[in-house]
Amino acid sequence: MRTLVQKFGGTSVSSDFARNHCLEHIKRERENGFQLVVVVSAMGRLGDPYATDTLLDLVRSNGDSLPLRERDMLLGCGEMISAAVLCSLLCSKGIPATILSGYQAGIITDGHFGQARITDLRPEQLLTNLGENKVVIVTGFQGGNENGELTTLGRGGSDTSATALGASLRAERVDIYTDVNGILTADPRIVNDAKPLLVVSYAEICNMARQGAKVIHPRAVEIAQQARIPIRVRSTFSLDEGTLVTDSPLHATGMVSDRHVTGIAHVAGITQISVQTVEGKADVQLQVFQTMARHHISVDFINVTPSGVVYTVFDYDAAKAVALLTDCGYAPTAISGCAKVSVIGGGMNGVPGIMARIVEALTLQGIAIMQAADSNTTIWVLVKDVDMASALRALHAKFELHL
Ligand code: ADP
Ligand code: MG
Repeated sequence: MRTLVQKFGGTSVSSDFARNHCLEHIKRERENGFQLVVVVSAMGRLGDPYATDTLLDLVRSNGDSLPLRERDMLLGCGEMISAAVLCSLLCSKGIPATILSGYQAGIITDGHFGQARITDLRPEQLLTNLGENKVVIVTGFQGGNENGELTTLGRGGSDTSATALGASLRAERVDIYTDVNGILTADPRIVNDAKPLLVVSYAEICNMARQGAKVIHPRAVEIAQQARIPIRVRSTFSLDEGTLVTDSPLHATGMVSDRHVTGIAHVAGITQISVQTVEGKADVQLQVFQTMARHHISVDFINVTPSGVVYTVFDYDAAKAVALLTDCGYAPTAISGCAKVSVIGGGMNGVPGIMARIVEALTLQGIAIMQAADSNTTIWVLVKDVDMASALRALHAKFELHL
C-alpha cells in the first residue's frame, strides 16, 4: 500500500481552527488511498500554554538544575499533548487513529539527551497499526535510546522525525505542513513579496536551511535525500501544493542550473571577533581555533590574514570567547549585534558579477559590509543586525526574486 507521512508544525496544531485544517488534509489523503503516519509538533510557540519553550519556562527559575535526561521528559510532553488532542478529533469524526511515541514508532537514538542522533529505525509496531487501517499519530521531536529512555532530537526535530519515518517506511512522500505556502525565496516575515519556489533540489534547500531559513531542518532534508524520498513543504491553511523538494530529473527544468540565485536566508545574533597577531607569539590561528573547539564554541565566517584572524560566533558565546582569548594573551575586539545574510543558488558557480551586484545593492542602501565570503553555491555577507531587513529586501529586489 502507498504510505504518506504528514508532519504538522506548531502553529498547525495550536487551535481548533488549525486542527480542523489538519483533519481535512488527513481525510483527503486517506481518500486518495494512502496509509498515513501523522507526525505532530508541540502546540504553538513561546507563550502558548503547551509549547516547548513554555514547558522549559516552568523550570527556568531553578537555573540549570534539571538533568538532561529529566529535561527531555519535560520537553517530550508538548508533543504528547498535541498528539492526544489531534487523536481525539480524528476519533470523534470516525477516523480510526492511534498514537505512538517516537520510540514506539521505532526511532532509536544514541543517548545524547537534548541533541540525540537517530541510530536505527524499527517500524514493526507502526506497520502493525497501519495494517489495522489506523492513522498513526507519532509524537515528533523524540525517540528513545537503546534502554527505551525518552530522548529529544534538538530544534526542528519534528521535521527529522517525519523524514526518518518516511525513510523507514519507504513512504511515497513526506509532507511538511506549516504556516507558509512552501519554501519561499526569503523569509516572508521580512520580505513581503517573497515568492514560493515550486521545485527545489535537496542541496538547495539544505543550504538555505543551514543558512537560517528555518522552514525545514537541514538534517531532515539530508535523511530524505539519502532515502530518495520527495518532500513537500506546504501550508496547513490552504490547498496550494507548496514546494516540492526532489532531485528527480523529471523536475529538472526550472531548477538548480537554470537559477543563479534561488533564495536569500539570514541568521541574526552574531558577534564578529578580530584577533591580531602578537609580537613573539606564533600560530595565532591555530591557538584561536583550538581554544574555541576545546570549549565547544562554534565558529563561522573565518578570514585568516598574515596580521591575524577574523571570525564570528553567536552572541551568546561571545563573552566566553573573548575571555578565553584574553586568557591566551590576545587583545580581541568584538562587535556584537551582527547578522549573516546569504545569497544562495546552485547555479551561481562561475557566473560573473554576482558579488558585484550584491555590493551594488547594499551600497545603494548605505549598508556597510563587514565581511564577505563565497563558495560555489552561496555568497555570505556580514552586516549589522539593524541593517539585516533592508539588506534582505534590497538583495531580493536586485535579483528579481519576486518575479
Ligand atoms: P513549524 O512550526 O510549522 O515547524 P517554523 O516556524 O519552524 O514552523 O517554520 C515556518 C516559518 O519559517 C515561517 O513562518 C517563516 O517565517 C519561516 N521562514 C524562514 N525562511 C523561510 C523561507 N525561505 N521560506 C518559508 N518560510 C521561511
Ligand atoms: Mg519547524
